Amino acid sequence: MNYNNVKFMAAYGTSKQLPPSRRAEVSFAGRSNVGKSSLLNKLFNRKKLAKVSSKPGKTSTINFFEADSADFVDLPGYGYAQVSKSEKARWAEMIEGYFNQDRDFALVVSLIDIRHPATALDVQMVGFLQTTGLPFIIVQTKADKLSKSQVSRSTAALRKQLELGPEVPVVAVSSEKGTGIDVLKRLIDS
Ligand code: GDP
Repeated sequence: MNYNNVKFMAAYGTSKQLPPSRRAEVSFAGRSNVGKSSLLNKLFNRKKLAKVSSKPGKTSTINFFEADSADFVDLPGYGYAQVSKSEKARWAEMIEGYFNQDRDFALVVSLIDIRHPATALDVQMVGFLQTTGLPFIIVQTKADKLSKSQVSRSTAALRKQLELGPEVPVVAVSSEKGTGIDVLKRLIDS
């Protein structure tokens, strides 16, 4: 995959607006503020392709990006407490609507903050991926905030918490320092 030639395609506010998938999709899911936009920008070597927010709870659309051999899908960040009930319902509609469609799901990248255990919604998300059998990997974000030994401990704890089999890759990344980005690219490419 050429990560240096990625274009923003479109943003959708409801799953019903989504066009049918054209080809393999690599989708990114995670709670709001987990570092999803920063990671996409790092992957694609761009400063502002995805919007990094100082305040959580902003991304509430499904954003599509086009690379040479796949489409990348930025799903709305979940779990931000300070949003209205109707906003939460809209989020659920979008994410469930997306995954319930007949699409070419090549890989789901599930993002979890390396500093904390998986939240209830993270557990729900990964549980859904495990039950449906969709191909997925876990990315632990903000690895620069922990020491090397803390990173290993956090990864082991997460594997245990989520009852991940050895076949599920877990990669610790830092969008700030660039750690783990090459590993992630190789996982996506394969
Ligand atoms: P999103 O809501 O998941 O898209 O998260 P953002 O990418 O907007 O990031 C949320 C906050 O976390 C911002 O303040 C980022 O600067 C910070 N952040 C994101 N990635 C990293 C990282 O790898 N290391 C550190 N230290 N901070 C990060």
